[in-house]
Amino acid sequence: MRIDVLTLFPEAFGGPLDVSIIQRARDDGLLDLRLHQVREFATDRHRSVDDYPFGGGQGMVMRVDVLDRALASVRAEAPEPGLVVFLSPQGERLTDALVRELAREPRLILVCGRYEGVDERFVEHRVDREVSIGDYILTGGELPAMVLIDAVTRHVPGALGDEASPEEESFAEGLLEHPQYTRPAEYNGWTVPDVLLSGHHAKIEKWKREQRLARTRERRPDLLPPEAGS
Ligand code: SAM
Repeated sequence: MRIDVLTLFPEAFGGPLDVSIIQRARDDGLLDLRLHQVREFATDRHRSVDDYPFGGGQGMVMRVDVLDRALASVRAEAPEPGLVVFLSPQGERLTDALVRELAREPRLILVCGRYEGVDERFVEHRVDREVSIGDYILTGGELPAMVLIDAVTRHVPGALGDEASPEEESFAEGLLEHPQYTRPAEYNGWTVPDVLLSGHHAKIEKWKREQRLARTRERRPDLLPPEAGS
């Protein structure tokens, strides 16, 4: 999968995407991540990427012409047009279902806003999906883009290797995951549920399923299908 990111701060992406599963997916060619500096597409002397909002108001707005040039140039780098996703607090909420849907795309082009956001004409004419990571305001779209890239990459076939499957994690089947334990079996007088040490595979699987249901009922009943909710 190829992911292009349009941003004013490409340097913000070092770190979380350079380690562990995501770095391995990049090394293995499963994730081709390209960062693009939007400012390179500004044409005036000051390299302006933003301007005052028409009608007045606080802050600055990212310019439609600069963003459009950036998008056209980045788009032309690969044969797939790419699904254009604008990270925005006004978008649809990023859920496990949406992550899985986005992971099926061969190419995503993520647009990170800054300041007060981007000129609405860009959103209206060029953006396919607006995605929010939650009901709060961040300074820019870079952190939301990193969250999306991390979550989506986990669903790219082969990215998790043999370590784990996304089907065993929370939200698969609409359930939270069961609690996990590791050695030592006793610490500070704190023990592990006996069943997990029993070696009885069927009983362990039953316990895990019960725990998943109980946890979801207690913490996130909104995730359960109506027939399992009560
Ligand atoms: N003025 C905008 C509003 O009230 O809707 C908020 C602008 S915010 C300060 C700047 C940029 O950060 C946004 O354009 C968006 O790209 C990003 N952003 C902020 N919060 C976000 C969130 N919860 N999810 C996704 N992107 C977010």
